[in-house]
Amino acid sequence: MALERTLILAKADAVVRGLAGEILARFERRGYTILGLKLMHVTPEQAKRHYAEHEGKPFFEGLVAYITGSPIVAMVIVGEDVIEGCRATIGATNPIKATPGTIRGDYGQTIGRNLVHGSDSAASAEREVAIFFRDDELFPCANVLGDWVAAK
Ligand code: UDP
Ligand code: MG
Repeated sequence: MALERTLILAKADAVVRGLAGEILARFERRGYTILGLKLMHVTPEQAKRHYAEHEGKPFFEGLVAYITGSPIVAMVIVGEDVIEGCRATIGATNPIKATPGTIRGDYGQTIGRNLVHGSDSAASAEREVAIFFRDDELFPCANVLGDWVAAK
């Protein structure tokens, strides 16, 4: 067990479809703690940094257009093994392969509009949180166990 934090994005299609609240609620109901939350427009520079590992792949330009096309809801979530837990709640990258009960399995149809992002490792999480949040946009708070969770 490790206390970790992760970056979650309710991507543009989720916000347009009115699913941002539903997505946030899935993580709240698991007992995770929200350290940061905002509606924001992603710049092409932020999108390219965030998805740098996919640069050069056939879907890259479309992915950047998708995530910059209309506002997203970004969140930083903390909890025990939260990275793996959030990825499990999100479901497989391709919604058609995602298990029903996961976010993508319940609401998604295609890989190009799969609603939500979750960091895939502790190193990715630290890198990605810094792309979307300034330190003063993260708020320490008490977690489900009553322990104080620092913002950093
Ligand atoms: N993606 C896509 N087509 C693909 C593979 C990925 O449009 O063939 C998009 C999709 O939005 C995905 C994102 O690129 O969520 C990042 O891909 P990754 O493999 O990192 O999946 P994730 O970590 O989001 O499950
Ligand atoms: Mg990924």
